[in-house]
Amino acid sequence: MAFAYSGGVLCAEQVPLDEIARRFGTPCYVYSRAVIEGNFARFASVLAGRKSLIAYSVKANSNLAVLALMARLGAGFDIVSGGELARVLAAGGDPRKVVFSGVGKTQAEIEQALHAGILCLNLESEAELGRVSATAARLGVRAPVAFRVNPDVDAKTHPHISTGLKDNKFGIAYADAERIYRDAARHGSLELVGIGCHIGSQLTSVAPYIDAAARILALTERLERAGIGLSHIDLGGGFGIRYKDESPAPVGEFLNGALRVLAGRKETLIIDPGRSIVGEAGALLTRVEYLKPGDAKNFAVVDAAMNDLIRPALYGAWHEVRQVHEAESDAVAGVYDIVGPVCESADFLARERKLALRPGSLLAIMSAGAYGMVMSSNYNTRPRPAEVLVSGTGASLIRERETVDQLFAAERLVP
Ligand SMILES: *Cc1c(COP(=O)(O)O)cnc(C)c1O
Repeated sequence: MAFAYSGGVLCAEQVPLDEIARRFGTPCYVYSRAVIEGNFARFASVLAGRKSLIAYSVKANSNLAVLALMARLGAGFDIVSGGELARVLAAGGDPRKVVFSGVGKTQAEIEQALHAGILCLNLESEAELGRVSATAARLGVRAPVAFRVNPDVDAKTHPHISTGLKDNKFGIAYADAERIYRDAARHGSLELVGIGCHIGSQLTSVAPYIDAAARILALTERLERAGIGLSHIDLGGGFGIRYKDESPAPVGEFLNGALRVLAGRKETLIIDPGRSIVGEAGALLTRVEYLKPGDAKNFAVVDAAMNDLIRPALYGAWHEVRQVHEAESDAVAGVYDIVGPVCESADFLARERKLALRPGSLLAIMSAGAYGMVMSSNYNTRPRPAEVLVSGTGASLIRERETVDQLFAAERLVP
């Protein structure tokens, strides 16, 4: 276990979290390098021996140190913006292992991707096909492209993170795919290299993933018969993690299921996991400022807020809350809502948790390594937290806490 108690104090690997709070302040994101590496290794071991690419989904956690770690492990990257491409390159990632997804790539982003020499642009509409084709022709290059196809399967996850149904903005419709591929094949400035899908996030059961794989394979075979051979099949990410009492199928079950579907196929298998690599590797460390007991509710007001971790407010997400000190003198046992100082009723991190707290207690909001810091904002002019990467007995600052000066440095007074 990467986060476990030792001598009554919660530690990240071998580093006590109270020491991290002392050194780097709170609120602060803390990541375990061993967990990130261990999660990557689970994917890599199932795929060993298969032509494959694990394209880490950058949007889950895009800190340069995390990306550099992934690059050293041999990962590719699934990106959704020019900014993420710049990050991957700055972190030493290999552009030839980058796939670029997203429904709204701008002209500038398409040019940036073509100049960088990425593996593939995942196109999501016919309009985008036209723009990429014209851009490549103008630059005198062939653009490597795939289409993200919407397999129209129900991922049975939260509606906000489900992406594979046909009323969804992502991908081209399954029924249109063959016609669009045939059309794209006539563009001399395009090189059709692959096909992809991504049915949603926080998947817990394997069946929808396998269904999607089978539908994508059927389409791939139809395209092959039409003379359109592809070099990769991208089945997306979305593998679920444990926040509360979910029991997501192990990664091996998802991947072995997909491998069975693709048995005998020569295409490279690409997957793009995000949450399942970094989610459980991270915790948000926060300090109790005030206890506010009441008739209906007891509040613990902490120094982290919805601007630091928006998942509870945005999705009603549940994160486990652990006391950093198992027991403290003067702590008051009770059932607490953990809330931040932001002026919104949606500003909560957890509700109705049995804890023993006093002002100054440290709490760890668990499984916050994915879609945590990357979704943070400066609402209420709150500087964003520091980020720390722990490895064994060492802790490194991988992002300085923002300063208030930085927050308005780009603003201008008018005369
Ligand atoms: C967001 C995204 C992923 C990663 O999803 P996780 O749930 O974090 O694994 C993978 N592929 C695509 C295309 C995405 O948009």
